[in-house]
Amino acid sequence: MLTLHEGQCGLCKHFGEHDNAPQLVQVRTSKSAPEDLKADCGHPKLEPLHLTVTPDSGCEGFEAAAA
Ligand code: SF4
Repeated sequence: MLTLHEGQCGLCKHFGEHDNAPQLVQVRTSKSAPEDLKADCGHPKLEPLHLTVTPDSGCEGFEAAAA
């Protein structure tokens, strides 16, 4: 399991933004994620590129997800 910190994709509101997967809620509340998890980034600047990121990735577009 990966332990997540502020600024990383797993805690960003754009991580899997359009998936609504229950697993992503678990990632946010537990601040941890399986090492093989990936999700599309929904940031408006990146979404057209269909960027896939891991929970421990990150970028300057980070916006904290609601708890
Ligand atoms: S790539 Fe940036 S905007 Fe996309 S989920 Fe990760 S931190 Fe958020």
